[in-house]
Amino acid sequence: MDHYAVFGNPIAHSKSPQIHGWFAEQTGQQMDYRAILAPEDDFEGSARQFFDAGGLGANVTVPFKLDALVFSDQLSPRARRAGAVNTLQKGKNGEIYGDNTDGIGLVRDLSDNLGFNLRGKRVLLLGAGGASRGVIEPLLKAGIARLKIANRTPEKAQQLVQIFHGLQPDAELSAGNWASLNASQYDLILNATSASLSGDLPPLPDGLLAAGALAYDLMYARQATPFMRWAEAQGAAQVADGLGMLVEQAAEAFFLWRQVRPQTSGVLQRLREQLMAG
Ligand code: NDP
Repeated sequence: MDHYAVFGNPIAHSKSPQIHGWFAEQTGQQMDYRAILAPEDDFEGSARQFFDAGGLGANVTVPFKLDALVFSDQLSPRARRAGAVNTLQKGKNGEIYGDNTDGIGLVRDLSDNLGFNLRGKRVLLLGAGGASRGVIEPLLKAGIARLKIANRTPEKAQQLVQIFHGLQPDAELSAGNWASLNASQYDLILNATSASLSGDLPPLPDGLLAAGALAYDLMYARQATPFMRWAEAQGAAQVADGLGMLVEQAAEAFFLWRQVRPQTSGVLQRLREQLMAG
């Protein structure tokens, strides 16, 4: 039996053991996957113990994505640019490889599950925290035409523009605060702030959504988030939450570990049913 895990604090709520359990069952992989509550001040100790005891790979969630970056012996270019690691893998010589599958998870959910073609689109990204850093590179690589990053603290959004500027020279990148959001329309608005967690919504002006626009909250919940409700009231053509991103980032990690790509649609459906049932 091969051993995998997810590290977080708190971790009891994590859906990753369930998702990877379903992936393993579906693809016939001999593996187990458990949730590990790491002490807030000792991710390294907890992760080291797991890998020393034979663990082959792990996911990493809040608040350890930066600790996991430091813990990694080698980094994928996308994890280095994102400044965060959500997937660890033990190499043949015991070295730990760190990757970030959050962004590709989002792009797969948008394109494969929601049928949204990113090429040539105008995208507004709300928030400049860890999740935003992880999604910018895959969005640019998917061929978006324009990316505006808006954040409560605009300096952090500016920093991200500096990091990712030049990665896709054809794409236009800009940054600002909420007040800078007027007179422009977007085909896709992504809420990567954690405002929804506290029932809040950034102060967004009317008229941001272009015809046919998709509004996507990276957070997921049983009920529509404040951002999703705002988007519905603004007439968004499509509104979605981040449950599909969660499943797709897990599928990418599973593929990295097992070289087998699981089917995600049935897993997403089961997870949605479970979420709705409470
Ligand atoms: P961080 O703590 O790194 O960043 C939080 C961001 O939200 C910052 O930009 C912060 O602004 C902003 N913010 C926080 N509170 C408010 C508020 N009240 N009003 C306006 N802006 C606010 O969080 P993450 O980037 O890790 O996570 C962001 C969201 O993405 C969470 O909801 C998380 O659940 C979700 N997520 C979903 C994933 C999935 O698989 N579906 C994967 C990863 C994340 P400032 O810089 O000014 O502090």
